[in-house]
Amino acid sequence: MVECYLGLGSNIGDRVAMVTRALACLASQPDMVLRDISGLYLTPAWGHRDQPDFVNAVCRLDTHLAPRDLLARLQGIEAGLGRRDRFRWGPREIDLDILFYGDEVLDEAGLQVPHPMLHRRAFVLIPLVEIAPHLIHPETGFKISEHLEAIGEHGDLKCQSLDI
Ligand code: ATP
Ligand code: MG
Ligand code: MG
Repeated sequence: MVECYLGLGSNIGDRVAMVTRALACLASQPDMVLRDISGLYLTPAWGHRDQPDFVNAVCRLDTHLAPRDLLARLQGIEAGLGRRDRFRWGPREIDLDILFYGDEVLDEAGLQVPHPMLHRRAFVLIPLVEIAPHLIHPETGFKISEHLEAIGEHGDLKCQSLDI
């Protein structure tokens, strides 16, 4: 089994319910075991700012699915939860991204792992530091907690904890 981290986000409809349902889907999948879940966070939209705030979270799971098969499984869950195709960084019912797949580094068409933006995004680093502060980014060699310190005021630190 490989230890993986996923990022979840939703900014359409009942965003908390979407993230919660996605986590329930992940927990009920064969071939993977959901191990840990961060709190939920409310974050201003990134990229195209003129859209509703996101609810974000991260989780840790163990799987023996290969990276491509894990991505396909996540895309199946996104589709099952009603994600519709829109423009890049636009609003979405649910987004499930692979942040880390063990300490593998992959740079292929349609699959980059670790997720190439993760160390610049507060909405990933803040929930991740809750469940994996000492995890080391295999490309940068820095811990998650160090990346969070490094983005400081340059990150979207308006990301707020949702008390639910
Ligand atoms: P971002 O990658 O900036 O978070 P996004 O999540 O909005 O953007 P999507 O529309 O969900 O992007 O996915 C676009 C493509 O990204 C997918 O078709 C998928 O092949 C590709 N992709 C590459 N690396 C990853 C990854 N680590 N996790 C999920 N999708 C990935
Ligand atoms: Mg994404
Ligand atoms: Mg995505």
